[in-house]
Amino acid sequence: MNKINLAKTRPDRTLRQPMELVEAGLVSETTLADLEKVAARYAVAVTPDLAALIDADEADDPIARQFIPSAEELVMQPGENADPIGDHSHSPVSGIVHRYPDRVLFKLVHICAVYCRFCFRREMVGPGRATALSPEAYSSALDYIRSHPEIWEVVLTGGDPLMLSPRRLKEIMSDLAAIDHVKIIRLHTRVPVAEPSRISAEMIAALKVKGATTWIALHANHARELTEKAREVCASIIDAGIPMVSQSVLLRGVNDDITDLEALMRAFVECRIKPYYLHHGDLAPGTAHLRTTLAQGQALMRALQGRVSGLCQPDYVLDIPGGHGKAPVGPNYLSEDNSLSRQREGHMESRYRVVDYCGDIHLYPPEG
Ligand code: SF4
Repeated sequence: MNKINLAKTRPDRTLRQPMELVEAGLVSETTLADLEKVAARYAVAVTPDLAALIDADEADDPIARQFIPSAEELVMQPGENADPIGDHSHSPVSGIVHRYPDRVLFKLVHICAVYCRFCFRREMVGPGRATALSPEAYSSALDYIRSHPEIWEVVLTGGDPLMLSPRRLKEIMSDLAAIDHVKIIRLHTRVPVAEPSRISAEMIAALKVKGATTWIALHANHARELTEKAREVCASIIDAGIPMVSQSVLLRGVNDDITDLEALMRAFVECRIKPYYLHHGDLAPGTAHLRTTLAQGQALMRALQGRVSGLCQPDYVLDIPGGHGKAPVGPNYLSEDNSLSRQREGHMESRYRVVDYCGDIHLYPPEG
């Protein structure tokens, strides 16, 4: 873990206006006009915990790149889309996205503790967007889940479900667990790193429910986000019997260096959080400056394979634009050996080339 104390100033409240970022010394006043334009379109929030991690003297600070708005967000690239992973086309009722047969997303709130500059739902989240589901919409969403016995897992996402009060979370968890076929309730959250003080004993108790198993997926992209406080609340969650997995987004200038990516995955495992997904950056509007190429992502995954154990390996996935779901995007370590000489020899059985962690190629089954 990074032991350098980067806290130069620690604001006492969440920064939401570009002028507040200027006053906190996190951006230059010369950028104010552009940042006002960005903030008029996409929500801004930087919690005191994350502001304290930013080294304002470092132009490309990996925490700042994730949360501090930039004029580059005003530039749209071809292919970018307000709904890059096709939530709308798979939403049978308000609040529900039903993309895969056995699971649904249940979007309860549209607010987050912090607003990520690369968010794939950036056109849908933030103050001033739709607020929490109305009681009628909530009831219709539950009816939809009840009437689809194939739904085994409900993923609470948003927005960030841990922005709800413990009392409301308890009601929602109980409503879902009362549905016989719902066995897993997974919550996607950034709160343990963005605002760890929200995770109270009462909230953890609210997440445990009879009749269904709770999982928490923590979103973090740089090892520095896993501060002592963040680690403590994750330990409390896991000690309470709630397993955790990670999800990260591969981001240029944040974790697209093998040393940073390795440190992040090791930090998760040290916290008893199993690395789950490394997402390729979605085609959200104004996010090209934060995306890598797929080839870079594959090279990083290959390098990770050579450096850390299987415990530290996430799946590198792409959400196919248009709502076609996630696909693992490699790299591929196996290819069929279709050599002509082998065909001439009349071999019926397939043989494969397999690449080891050093990049060397071997035949399977071996020759001889
Ligand atoms: S916490 Fe999640 S939903 Fe909220 S802004 Fe970040 S990526 Fe988007």
